[in-house]
Amino acid sequence: MSGDYEFLCNIYGISGASGRHCCLWCTITNEELKIPRTTRQQGTITPRSLATLSQKYSEFEADGSNLKKAKMHDNVIGKVFFDIPLSQVCPPGLHITLGIFQRLFNLLEEECHQLDLSITEPCTTNSGMSFRDYLQAKSTITVTEQEQSVLTAELNQAQQILALLLLNSPNPQHDIRVQNVTRLIHSHSTKISTNNHTIVQNKRIVKQGFEREDGIFVKSLERAMASFHVERQVYHGGSFVGNHIHRALKPENIKTMCNSVIATATSLNNSALQSKADEINDKFMDAFNLFAQCHTIYDSNTLLSNAKINELETAIDAFLRFYRESFTATVLPKMHMLEDHLVPWVKRWKVGCGCMGEQGAESLHAMFNNVERAYNNIVDRIERLSVLLQNHHFKLLPANKSLEPPPLKKRPTKPRD
Ligand SMILES: [Zn+2]
Repeated sequence: MSGDYEFLCNIYGISGASGRHCCLWCTITNEELKIPRTTRQQGTITPRSLATLSQKYSEFEADGSNLKKAKMHDNVIGKVFFDIPLSQVCPPGLHITLGIFQRLFNLLEEECHQLDLSITEPCTTNSGMSFRDYLQAKSTITVTEQEQSVLTAELNQAQQILALLLLNSPNPQHDIRVQNVTRLIHSHSTKISTNNHTIVQNKRIVKQGFEREDGIFVKSLERAMASFHVERQVYHGGSFVGNHIHRALKPENIKTMCNSVIATATSLNNSALQSKADEINDKFMDAFNLFAQCHTIYDSNTLLSNAKINELETAIDAFLRFYRESFTATVLPKMHMLEDHLVPWVKRWKVGCGCMGEQGAESLHAMFNNVERAYNNIVDRIERLSVLLQNHHFKLLPANKSLEPPPLKKRPTKPRD
């Protein structure tokens, strides 16, 4: 049995990855995900089976089938569809890869965004419009505020001088010094009020922020991804596809991706940014490489030797240890599947997810979409679907074609007199 996680949850009747007991194979809770497998308290988490799933479903039904109470029944809310034991359900390798890669990438992008936010000098090249406007506004505020403090000090001084002049001058109305000081006070007050207006306007722009992808660090990360043909438009909507990740997880591409942060910081010539960029580069190089080591083994479609399986187990533990130590982000249910359920599966069946996972079924999407395009002109939806299925059937088993009745022969038309 294989499929994406949502499908597996549906056919085994559990409420899904967001439930309190999110795992299909065991009853671990969301809070327990953050504890490493080796230090977790033994006995509190039990493996699920078809029998426990059925029992929990009966309890859920007896309790009024109230979805709010699902967590009291290990999040079992539906009947098991097929009598296939959980030991024969392949962990969704492709979706584990997609989920974990997306998480690591989001964390890297967020670090880049934070660096973008910390830049203060205006820079115009290699970034998007909204980011340039944002930096310009930030810089205008700094310059104007400095000017304001000088103007305010001068204004205070001038007001004091004016007071003294008014007291000492015999004819203040015709005193040229009084006139000069009054003129200065007037021009300074006008300038201060204009500046206040400028500051308010620019603060509004800074408050609005900028488009995340316009920032110089995020943009150069995007450019680094594009250099190995993972384009932003393609993963529009925030998700990658399997092929992108295969490419992105190659050692040289991981390097390109992470080094882009250092290259950008160097181009800005700011030492504080450079040391932060070095830190980010080191952290993400390690994280992606450790994950790539796991991915290469579990994603394979060959028989795995015991030595290879042990290597996988060590690689998974090393990745999860590093993730927990280096990031404050939560441990995803998919990371738990990787940590707890992938190795037992591989040990039992000796093959990776490339062979028994959901990838084969996923490729049907593309096949169906291609065929569907050819029959787009059929208006009736049911007829279109039936032709689509028929076509798919013939592709799978060409012998079926011989069962199709031959087309009726047209009667020869009578020649006209
Ligand atoms: Zn589990």
